[in-house]
Amino acid sequence: MQSFNLTRYFSTLSFILIVMAGGALGAHFRDNATRQLVADAEQRNVALTQVFRNSLWSRFTRHVELSYRRDDAAPRQAEDGGALRAAVVGMMAGTAVVKVKLYNRDGLTVFSTDPAQLGEDKRANAGFRSALAGRPVSELTHRNSFDSFEGTLSDLDVVSSYVPVVLADGRVEGVVELYQDVTATLREIDRTLWRLSLAVFAVLAILFLLQLVVVRRAQGILRQQSDALEEANRELDRRVRERTAELEAEVAERRGAEARLDHLAHHDPLTGLPNRLMFFEQLGKSIALAARAGRQLAVLFIDLDRFKEVNDTLGHAIGDELLVAVTHRLASHLRAGDALARLGGDEFICVVEDITDPREVGIVAEKLIALLSRPFGVHDHELYIAASIGICLYPGDGEDVATLVRNADTAMYQAKAHGRGRSHFYTAEMTVYAQERIRLEGLLRRAIEAGELELHYQLKVAAASGRPTGAEALVRWRNAELGAIAPIRFIPLAEETGFIGELGEWVLREACRQMVAWRAAGLVVPRVAVNLSVKQIERGHIIETVRAALDDTGLDPAALELEITESLIMNAEDALGVLEQFHRLGVHLAIDDFGTGYSSLAYLKQLPVGTLKIDRAFVVGIGANAGDEAIIRTIVALARSLGLATVAEGVDSQPQFDFLRALGCDEIQGYLFSQPLPADEFARKWRACAA
Ligand code: C2E
Ligand code: MG
Ligand code: MG
Repeated sequence: MQSFNLTRYFSTLSFILIVMAGGALGAHFRDNATRQLVADAEQRNVALTQVFRNSLWSRFTRHVELSYRRDDAAPRQAEDGGALRAAVVGMMAGTAVVKVKLYNRDGLTVFSTDPAQLGEDKRANAGFRSALAGRPVSELTHRNSFDSFEGTLSDLDVVSSYVPVVLADGRVEGVVELYQDVTATLREIDRTLWRLSLAVFAVLAILFLLQLVVVRRAQGILRQQSDALEEANRELDRRVRERTAELEAEVAERRGAEARLDHLAHHDPLTGLPNRLMFFEQLGKSIALAARAGRQLAVLFIDLDRFKEVNDTLGHAIGDELLVAVTHRLASHLRAGDALARLGGDEFICVVEDITDPREVGIVAEKLIALLSRPFGVHDHELYIAASIGICLYPGDGEDVATLVRNADTAMYQAKAHGRGRSHFYTAEMTVYAQERIRLEGLLRRAIEAGELELHYQLKVAAASGRPTGAEALVRWRNAELGAIAPIRFIPLAEETGFIGELGEWVLREACRQMVAWRAAGLVVPRVAVNLSVKQIERGHIIETVRAALDDTGLDPAALELEITESLIMNAEDALGVLEQFHRLGVHLAIDDFGTGYSSLAYLKQLPVGTLKIDRAFVVGIGANAGDEAIIRTIVALARSLGLATVAEGVDSQPQFDFLRALGCDEIQGYLFSQPLPADEFARKWRACAA
């Protein structure tokens, strides 16, 4: 910004004003002074003329031809003209008059101190005419050379006055022209003018300088203020810029946070796939599009088999990586348009759009299953999992998001029920089954209060002697509407719904209570085995529950055996820790369904387990399947080398019993000796066997 320079502005303006004022003042002064000078000179000339008329006029009228005419011959100077001139000069001596001329009424020069001018005609001269009319007139002129009666003068300022010669009767007889030398006066005026000008200039200059000081000071203050203002403006600008940048950053950050929140709200943080919420939105759109175009689409509900085992044995970090690897594999084999989402845990869901034949979807599902059954390399582990897929079609199996997803889920359960690593299309009957499950669950939750649960006990006998050694407690459910329901139907249901906690606790307490009751009645059953579900252990507090059951009933811990499935030991987090706590509690531990899992020998050695229960699946093969027999042989030999007892379950024929006894299996459990029986019947059976 070009700042306003007050000093320069003031100086220029003042200079111009001073010059103008000085000039105007000087001009005015000079004008006044010369006018005064001319007036004074004129006054003197008038006075001289008066003197001239009074003293010399009579001589003039005698010697000068006042009646002289133009057409006359050149006027003659009177014979004593020289004397007249001398008289005039004498009269003028001592005055400033340097020349005198006399004109008659006709304007002819009838006398002049310069004789050369005699006869000149001044009729047309304005001065002459004014004087003739009675008004004297004067004029200031500068002459470079002037013929005066004292000779030729140079550089002269003269005031020439035309003055009327008025007679006593008031008549104007002629006009005298007097030239008065005012050179000295005019020079004095000019000198005075110069001095005055100098004084004025000096005063103005001092004034100017004083004002300049003030103005400079003012300018300094102004500049300071302007600088301060500019600085303040710059500061303000800077702050505005800073604040703007801050605000922009804030806005960007907020937008980013919003975008992140939005992403989080709609995506699974682990795999980055859309989550349930977003999937439901996408599916809604896909349904709307399919409806408009009259097309079919399929919803595939994918559940990983054995994922839990990986998670439980190798830890959540590996489990998470496996899920990411699964996501990549699924995503890479789906079409770009097919929406894939993770619903949670090991459940994925995807939409295959634009289907003309449901068989296409079956092929897609089989491909995905094959894809997921290939091993996954996660860190140093080679992991084998599989997937079960439920398929549901729009519009055939449902027309809205909720129905389609629910039906695909139902179909997935059906696929699992048919054995893992399969796909299954939804059928209407499945919904009936699913509804049945819901009804069953409701009834089961009320079963304890309703007193519908009961424990049956199955005898275990020593293979060598056939004498009873203990019992396994097996839960039974008899409902008024449904009749007897097999554990294989309601135990998994209780596990899925979480009801297993209550149910398991009830079984434990009931078994302990029964044992104490038997003992009180004189029936000494050395040990009762109670099955524990993997979910009971996962829910926590199992140690406390067992301890409380023992404490509350007063049963000796050594009389309680807990049957834990082999898969539980391999899968449950910190299974070893839990088993050790059980061991410290003094209860016995048995591995149920042994041979079906994958327990490593090394791991087995660490466990505080006393018994291996050979699974019924192998016992069935005795006499028919050499492989099963080999497995049993191995298990027995293994148990012996580890110092463990063996129990064979599901023994229902003599050849099976003979085979097992010959091998050296310690105990036998099965229909061959007894079915699971209600407590009182079991007591009778026990007494009969023990006798
Ligand atoms: P499990 O623990 O392996 O129990 C043995 C199953 O084999 C019992 O079936 C029993 O009745 C049956 N069984 C015994 N001897 C024979 C035989 O000679 N032939 C045949 N065919 N079967 C025989 P159940 O009682 O139906 O129990 C099935 C499974 O349900 C049990 O397998 C166990 O895993 C679970 N279960 C039963 N009661 C409970 C319980 O109170 N708590 C828990 N967590 N699970 C239980
Ligand atoms: Mg069992
Ligand atoms: Mg078993």
